[in-house]
Amino acid sequence: MNNYPNLFKPLDLGFTTLKNRVLMGSMHTGLEETGDWNRVANFYAIRAKGQVGLMVTGGIAPNLEGAVLPGASAMLNDNDIQNHKTVTKAVHASDGKIVMQILHAGRYAYSKKAVAPSAVKAPISPFTPLSLNEEGIEKQINDIVLAAKRAQQAGYDGVEIMGSEGYLINQFLVSHTNKRKDRWGGTYENRMRLPVEVVKRVRKIVGSNFIVMYRLSMIDLIPNGSSWNEVVILAKRIESAGANIINTGIGWHEARIPTIATSVPRRAFSWLTKKLYGEVSIPIIASNRINMPEVAESVLAEGCADMISMARPFLADPNFVLKAAKGKPNEIVPCIACNQACLDHTFAMRLTSCLVNPQACHETELRLLPSPDPLKIAVVGAGPAGLAFSISAVSRGHKVTLFEASEAVGGQLNMARKIPGKEEFNGLVEYYKNEVGRLDIDLELNKKPTVQELKTFDKVVIATGVRPRKLDILGQEQSNKVLSYLDVLLNKAEVGSRVAIIGAGGIGFDVAEYLVNKNLNKNISIPDWLSQWGVVDPENARGGLDPQLRKEISSNREVTLLQRKSERLGKNLGKTTGWIHRSSLNSKGVKMLSGVNYEEVGERGLKISYGPQRENSSWLEVDNIVVCAGQESERSLEISLNKHDINPFWIGGANIASELDAKSAINQAYKLAAKI
Ligand code: NAP
Ligand code: SF4
Repeated sequence: MNNYPNLFKPLDLGFTTLKNRVLMGSMHTGLEETGDWNRVANFYAIRAKGQVGLMVTGGIAPNLEGAVLPGASAMLNDNDIQNHKTVTKAVHASDGKIVMQILHAGRYAYSKKAVAPSAVKAPISPFTPLSLNEEGIEKQINDIVLAAKRAQQAGYDGVEIMGSEGYLINQFLVSHTNKRKDRWGGTYENRMRLPVEVVKRVRKIVGSNFIVMYRLSMIDLIPNGSSWNEVVILAKRIESAGANIINTGIGWHEARIPTIATSVPRRAFSWLTKKLYGEVSIPIIASNRINMPEVAESVLAEGCADMISMARPFLADPNFVLKAAKGKPNEIVPCIACNQACLDHTFAMRLTSCLVNPQACHETELRLLPSPDPLKIAVVGAGPAGLAFSISAVSRGHKVTLFEASEAVGGQLNMARKIPGKEEFNGLVEYYKNEVGRLDIDLELNKKPTVQELKTFDKVVIATGVRPRKLDILGQEQSNKVLSYLDVLLNKAEVGSRVAIIGAGGIGFDVAEYLVNKNLNKNISIPDWLSQWGVVDPENARGGLDPQLRKEISSNREVTLLQRKSERLGKNLGKTTGWIHRSSLNSKGVKMLSGVNYEEVGERGLKISYGPQRENSSWLEVDNIVVCAGQESERSLEISLNKHDINPFWIGGANIASELDAKSAINQAYKLAAKI
């Protein structure tokens, strides 16, 4: 018996049985839009082989006006049916089950064709949608119903009707976006008419032996969102209309509350599915920030849901379920909820991948095949690049010795894991440690190899990372106020109560978060996190949002974050997470100044000036100045390697320091390991 008895209990839907309680939730990977359906099929088939109970495709539009973007994947005709057959055949051949998500974007469609219940522009879209007339509403319903029929013809096991995250169906449900006075607006009975009609008519056309899953918004997190009573009424009506499963959504896309970022505590929203539990008799699926089998098991064991949806964890590791089933959770590549290579890519119109698994969505081109000529390889530096390279090279049959100058593996990840809200990095470092032992990588800690030693290997890979950029500000040498971020995060330097941070990149923001938090090394509790963001029980406030309750968080320190560029601070942080970092620091009183010059360090603190002529200057009265001004490559080995004619491969920060992050370091490491 494995450690997850609830997770591995089959789910009987009457006409079909799911082998376990794990759903791979819908993800917009961009693969469908490549037009390479074998690649799409391969992506899902690999995950089906990994034993996930049921998968949901990315959102597929039922018509052109409902597509999230012009050119987004849609299910419109026989040609689309044939393309999708490639996917369903591959999944079924791998003993999997898959449903197609029908997504009508409504006013979120990035197009002049966008339609909605009322002509109310979304804050995240430049387009004002056209208000649908009666005929238009009938057309939208019919198109959704036809898409469901076509999905059935394409061989899917069912459909998921996307009724959450603020898309068309959600827009009908709440008065915030539905201003209609006809039978589709006004009372809740009227606002609910569209989703109920959709489910009823879909069920009618597909018959009874086909999964109809409805994704229902548990908490909208927008002003005037649904009340709890409305959520319960809708769930009951959706069940009566013929749905087999209710999947859940948390927050509209326009909500300014983080719902899946790494700083959201694990299973932060499972109390909502628990609240719904028992109100309907069909299975309910819990979602959001559930990323490890033990977390999923606890949600099920506590009676919060019948099934668990995880999406990004299947980018990080297609074999998540298989490894859990074998009782080897330590071997699961953990999703750290960073969004850096998945959602941030989607918003930049790039193909999705994964920071910790660059093979995700690149399965057909980035392959780690057995090497015909196994080599003895020395890797210098056990940060993310060195670790990722070593693990992937060993999987191809090479023999790797990994040298690390410090006493532990992890490199820069060991700094990230210290930052409040970035605790998921602990799991990543633990995963790497475990893999190094399991794969028999020869690890030499506290060791800088000599050139003579390196000469004994067939190949040498240098992954020595970066060192902080040093600045040369007048007076800094005479002052003991100036610290580097390494002093603060790794070397336990004493830091005073008034601090200026030079540099507002990812590390400047991280150091600010670290300095203003009182409870270091302590995971924030779910209730505290919810109240920090003003999230309440939707029974007490519509949409579960009460900004009046959002707490200002007191801090022991006054921190000022500085940058030379005149633009808004944090502009280059991740698209989907930068606003969260800014908002979090604002709530803790961190001051942010841009367009400054650094003039002098003195007894008073840091003298800054503004303007090209530096005409206005003032002193920031601070106890410490923490320099987070980027990095330079650590290449101190270079001269001696050259002298001895060793031509190593340089990867990660040692190769290029500017704009380097774990995503590009790991990606580069995999690519080298695949071809060496
Ligand atoms: P970074 O993002 O390049 O930021 C460096 C900061 O230092 C900038 O604000 C820059 O702004 C300033 N700076 C650069 N040269 C300077 C100089 N000579 N004098 C004074 N200021 C200078 O570097 P980082 O913050 O060290 O981050 C390193 C990498 O890790 C980045 O790729 C980052 O994306 C990644 N990372 C990301 C996150 C996250 O997304 N949350 C967290 C940690 C790290 P000005 O030039 O305008 O002053
Ligand atoms: Fe998870 Fe980050 Fe990978 Fe996205 S990029 S799947 S959030 S680890």
